[in-house]
Amino acid sequence: MIEVDFKNETYICPFCERQQAFSGSVERTYAGVRKNLMEYRTTDERNNSVNIYHLVCRNNECKKTSIVVTSDFLKKQWDLIPEVVYRHYPDYIPQQIRDDYVEACLTLDRSPKAAATLLRRCLQGMIRDFHGITKDKLADAINELQGKVTAPQWKAIDGLRKVGNIGAHMEKDVNLIVDIDPDEADKLKKLIELLLDKWYIARHEEEALCTEVAGISDSKQAKRKGS
Ligand SMILES: [Zn+2]
Repeated sequence: MIEVDFKNETYICPFCERQQAFSGSVERTYAGVRKNLMEYRTTDERNNSVNIYHLVCRNNECKKTSIVVTSDFLKKQWDLIPEVVYRHYPDYIPQQIRDDYVEACLTLDRSPKAAATLLRRCLQGMIRDFHGITKDKLADAINELQGKVTAPQWKAIDGLRKVGNIGAHMEKDVNLIVDIDPDEADKLKKLIELLLDKWYIARHEEEALCTEVAGISDSKQAKRKGS
């Protein structure tokens, strides 16, 4: 869901992930007629009006439009553009991992179980690619991962595997249906995002900074020799 702070009139642009301010970007309509934002004239108008937020990102490199509809009465928010919010990861993260992640985000609300299965696959790809553990069975790979990541991370990773199993494998008793709700699948998605940040993004940023500092040092040494 697009993060909007309606009171302070700010939102996180779902495309560039920057916080933006907005004002006057809302219109209230009832039965196709534009309505006053300050008051509801009838109960029916109050119950059935919607507020349409037309948000345009002010970041020059983005400038994309997001559209959010809310109902004061139902206290609900519907995202129209984009319908689903997900992180846009850089291409130094393998394509397969990014594809599984995006597909999981797209299916999360409608099929949390399918999303959990995709996130499990995503995790498997990450352990293989980032940690170089090539065990076929995810449970074995996770066992090998023990000690290479923090204890809370390891526990959460094993948890994701177990929840993802619900969608990936049939229970021994086929009549036993274990459901996963969207909030639980969303937590698994957040774990994958955290691991992508802590593993890939952090490594990339560390390498970039180290290369830069080494470059500064080299050019200083060259200048000293030259002078
Ligand atoms: Zn933006």
